[in-house]
Amino acid sequence: MSGNPKRVTILGSTGSIGRSTVDLLQREPERFAVEALTAQSNVTLLAEQARLLRARLAVIGDEGRLPELRERLAGSGVEVAAGRAALIEAAGRPVDWVMAAIVGAAGLEPTLAAVRRGAVVALANKETLVCAGDLVMAEAARCGATILPVDSEHNAIFQVFDFKAPESVDRIILTASGGPFRTLNLAEMREATPAQAIAHPIWSMGAKISVDSATLMNKGLELIEASFLFPVPEDRIEVLIHPQSVVHSLVAYLDGSVLAQLGTPDMRTPIAFTLAWPSRMAAPAARLDLAAVAKLTFEVPDSARFPALNLARRALQSGGGAPTILNAANEVAVEAFLSGRIGFLDIARIVEQTLARVNRRPLANLEEVRDADGAARRHAAHVIDPLSDDRAVPVHIATRRQRGDA
Ligand code: NAD
Ligand code: MG
Repeated sequence: MSGNPKRVTILGSTGSIGRSTVDLLQREPERFAVEALTAQSNVTLLAEQARLLRARLAVIGDEGRLPELRERLAGSGVEVAAGRAALIEAAGRPVDWVMAAIVGAAGLEPTLAAVRRGAVVALANKETLVCAGDLVMAEAARCGATILPVDSEHNAIFQVFDFKAPESVDRIILTASGGPFRTLNLAEMREATPAQAIAHPIWSMGAKISVDSATLMNKGLELIEASFLFPVPEDRIEVLIHPQSVVHSLVAYLDGSVLAQLGTPDMRTPIAFTLAWPSRMAAPAARLDLAAVAKLTFEVPDSARFPALNLARRALQSGGGAPTILNAANEVAVEAFLSGRIGFLDIARIVEQTLARVNRRPLANLEEVRDADGAARRHAAHVIDPLSDDRAVPVHIATRRQRGDA
């Protein structure tokens, strides 16, 4: 890269992916100019990052924390703002590259704003594609945005997929670490605590994706994500457990060739790929030493212990609003698990019940996506706690009546 610095924005800069992105940017300050950084509640880190990277704007989602942000950035020249609307405005500011690293469906509208600006969008926020994949991809095509996958598996596939001859692809194989409970039996999984679930053996990530990795819902969400990113039908996207997380995913071609991208498990590699695209830049990930790794193993996922993966596949097969409902119910269930209100095995059960009850008709626009997401959240909350959430009851009854067209 030469000439003017690349103008960049990070949505969710204080999270795991956000911090890895900041780490890459601060190593080469002359190459990048930071427009906006956003976070939900961590004012201290947001202000620190904004000063370090000389960002033009820092936005905090939680409006109550604006005075503190203002105070921490006094005299720095960094503009400050707060609230959901400010966050979406920041996402839509003209830049060359936006990192979409907010967690959950909360990232949808900010990501859409970046897509509508026609930027290169480095997409970590997989829930955005799961809950509104048709809409996001159609808007990207309409507005000339480029979506570059950050998720390590999709980034790997992107690097070895022949987009000029997609008919030559036989299969995509998504690899999964198997998470912290790969070898537990069902009785042990029933007793699993949030602390155990977020202690991922390989990857250090935010709490929500760590729980998703433990249930394998993460791989289910990634299956749906892959179906939107790559022109390959669902029945030709496979999942293989690969505990070492060195082979980040594979593309099998009709001639029998199988291409893969390998590397040490460090998200700074796929982030750097998207940041420098279409060229490459240095990233500080440990170099892969295959002789030291010595052994790479693969196994088929166990659907009895990890039902979430099949729930996601079935949601993808039914289409319409099913992936949106799956995602919303999962977010509610993961939150309930993390706050100690339900057990680990209840997560998939709640998602399954919500999928069976909430209407899965096709979603034509953002409003319909929001409606389906909201209905699923209310239903899931009701399944978790029927007494404390009476708002969920009418939805429950209404969706039962509508089941015929689901
Ligand atoms: P995280 O929880 O560490 O960080 C989330 C970020 O989003 C934080 O900056 C937080 O302030 C912000 N945020 C949270 N709720 C928000 C809201 N309601 N509105 C606006 N901002 C909000 O999460 P993470 O692990 O960095 O993951 C981010 C996304 O990237 C997720 O979608 C995850 O699935 C995906 N991803 C993460 C990894 C990883 O290694 N961490 C790998 C692949 C994909
Ligand atoms: Mg992944």
